[in-house]
Amino acid sequence: MIKKEINIAFDDFGSIDELNETDRELCLEAVKALKNSHSPYSKFKVGAAVKLTSGKIVYGSNQENVAYPSGLCAERVALFAIGANYPDDKIISIAITASTDSFELKLPTTPCGACLQVMAESEKKQEQEFDILLYCIDGPIWKARGVGSFLPFLFFEDRLRG
Ligand SMILES: [Zn+2]
Repeated sequence: MIKKEINIAFDDFGSIDELNETDRELCLEAVKALKNSHSPYSKFKVGAAVKLTSGKIVYGSNQENVAYPSGLCAERVALFAIGANYPDDKIISIAITASTDSFELKLPTTPCGACLQVMAESEKKQEQEFDILLYCIDGPIWKARGVGSFLPFLFFEDRLRG
């Protein structure tokens, strides 16, 4: 038996003022996405903004449903919209933020495993990693290059692609 350890790396910014202008702008775009969140059940709004090579910004917000599993996270709403509408436009970065009146958010909201797996597919598809910015409004920002930092054991099997 060999005991193994994985280290992940990401940048921890104390506030949005520490970000470069491009990243700061995208975080603020993610805040705009919150307004279209449909979250009457959790009352937890999530917004995502994805910047493409063309300069286009695609928004996503969580879309809940009374039949709970029928809803979808903000990140996948945005990423699937890109796949459907701009399949040849590469993703440069994604910013994700959240908001709720139920409690105070002090740390960035991290994507669920399913969204990380979908991000991994997007990176594979465009053969290029992208930046992931997790923005806590009035709090810290965590930034990583590539989804592997947040999901080191993501599923991928090249042989399934034929
Ligand atoms: Zn998710």
